[in-house]
Amino acid sequence: MHEHNHDQKHHHPAPLIVTFDDCIRFHGHSCPGLASGYRAAVAAMEALGVTRPEDEDLVAICETDACGVDAIQVIAGTTAGKGNLIVHDYGKHAFTFYNRKDEKAVRITFNRGEDESTNEMNTIRPKVFSGTATKEEEARFHELMHKATVRILHAPAEKIMKIEEICMDAPKKARIFKSVTCEECGESVADSKTRVVGGKCLCIPCAEGTHPAKRK
Ligand SMILES: [Zn+2]
Ligand SMILES: [Zn+2]
Repeated sequence: MHEHNHDQKHHHPAPLIVTFDDCIRFHGHSCPGLASGYRAAVAAMEALGVTRPEDEDLVAICETDACGVDAIQVIAGTTAGKGNLIVHDYGKHAFTFYNRKDEKAVRITFNRGEDESTNEMNTIRPKVFSGTATKEEEARFHELMHKATVRILHAPAEKIMKIEEICMDAPKKARIFKSVTCEECGESVADSKTRVVGGKCLCIPCAEGTHPAKRK
């Protein structure tokens, strides 16, 4: 059996090598959006001189809620559960990374990178997603997607993205709250997230009438 080294002083864990393959495993498929998130995370960490953090020093602010966010979580370690991932659904391929250690931040945006294949992709995409594409169109769509993904993964950074140092205030830290019991559903809820309705202390879904109903 492997013996663990509990001597903290001399414990140097090997640097975590996280790859694009890990992003694909997490996300479920390979796509241009995932590749953009991957390039953004790698470029930002390089620009800020940070490695994938175990804690919450690095914060990612994503201006899209699409595929790229998954690569950001895997590569930069800025995850929904740790509270150092902020997602704004602005529909923009823009990613900001903030380092709490030195208060430095970079914002990364992508050039649209249009070429001949963009029009073709835009024509086939609605057919593929509505299930009306022919076998040939579907194969062509996947070929174009794959080409776009490879291009984003391997293009020189300056060709596909803009990396700018920016000034920003530190994002708010996740705070720890005590739990209380919702007087409607009886479920435990953080006291900071309760609402008082008709003198009762309720969780947000109960207050808004959107609590999932049990199947009858
Ligand atoms: Zn995707
Ligand atoms: Zn409730």
